[in-house]
Amino acid sequence: MVTRLPLPETCSLELADAILNERAKGRNADYFKNIYEEWRKRIEVYLADHGNPETVPRWPAINENSTPLLTLYKAPKQQNSQYPVLKSIRNGKLQFCPSCGEEGSPRTIDHYLPKEIYPHFCVTPANLTPMCDACQTAKGTKTLDKHGRRIFLHPYFDDFLTSQVVRLIVGRPFNAPEDFELVPIDDLEPAQAALVWRHIDGLNMQERYGAFFRDEYIRLLHLSQEARDQGLDIVDDIPVFLRLHRKKALNLWPYIFYTAVMADNELLDYLRKGDLPEHI
Ligand SMILES: [Zn+2]
Repeated sequence: MVTRLPLPETCSLELADAILNERAKGRNADYFKNIYEEWRKRIEVYLADHGNPETVPRWPAINENSTPLLTLYKAPKQQNSQYPVLKSIRNGKLQFCPSCGEEGSPRTIDHYLPKEIYPHFCVTPANLTPMCDACQTAKGTKTLDKHGRRIFLHPYFDDFLTSQVVRLIVGRPFNAPEDFELVPIDDLEPAQAALVWRHIDGLNMQERYGAFFRDEYIRLLHLSQEARDQGLDIVDDIPVFLRLHRKKALNLWPYIFYTAVMADNELLDYLRKGDLPEHI
């Protein structure tokens, strides 16, 4: 699930200035000179509005000729100012996708406001986050739902992502749970909870992670059987799993799984002394 990330170190406005300086003598000097004031203003609005597509206006005139801007992203030369910025976002040290929480190193860049619609933010660092391929495919060029509300959480600007924002409900019966339901955490404000719901749906999280939770649950049943065989209490071990995963990030799936287990007293009772399935 989404994790709050620090903004890239490079200031979005300073990078735009540096790019213009580089382009001032190039083939598209006039193009960049003509758009410069407006481009800068729009980056300021992006930063002030935290990239929110509900309020950041589109720029129809730029869509008529966006090739020179998109080339900054698609074919940067090593000596260009945006090159190291793109490289560091693409090859960062993250060990999970900040938008869905899947473990692994995300190697693609997502444009929070898609470059197809907002080409003027295609190299704006505040608009670029690392993302896994599955999230990229699910997100596509979506920004707003049919009611005009933004669909996705923003890893750089949604401050409440420093806390856990989703929880899991393990379905009943425990020997063959039917479903694992992801829901926003109870103490979020209603608008935040609604946004978390849209993010979960927008990235098909329920569908994508159902198998992960089933596997994790089966593993837990195995561990419960082992603990019983050795005369131990499985419930003593769960806080260790929690601490292990908490170190990485609060909104990663294993942490969400084990917080759900610890919060469910009926499930803990079942793991201690319920009838475990014969063939786990
Ligand atoms: Zn992802």
